[in-house]
Amino acid sequence: MLTIFDIALALDRQAGIVHPDDRMTGADLDRLRLPMFGGCAICEASLAAFNAVPTRSGFLACEDCASPEAGYETLVDFLADNAE
Ligand SMILES: [Zn+2]
Repeated sequence: MLTIFDIALALDRQAGIVHPDDRMTGADLDRLRLPMFGGCAICEASLAAFNAVPTRSGFLACEDCASPEAGYETLVDFLADNAE
C-alpha cells in the first residue's frame, strides 16, 4: 500500500523533480496538496506522511488498520480516485 510519502515522491518523480535520498519537506507536501500530518480514521493514531495510508474511502489510516484492498497499490490507481 502506498503512503502519502510514497505518493508525493511518485508525483514529483513523474514531474521530473528529484529528491536526493528521497527527502521531502512539509513545503513539498504543501505544494502537492498532500497532508503532512493526520490521524488514523480507525484507531485514531497520529500519523505523518511516511506512515499515513490514503484509503479508497477518502480517509487516512495507519498501516495496521488499512486493509490491503482499502489502500492504493499504484500512483495511477490513486490518481484515478483523486484527480482534480
Ligand atoms: Zn489505525
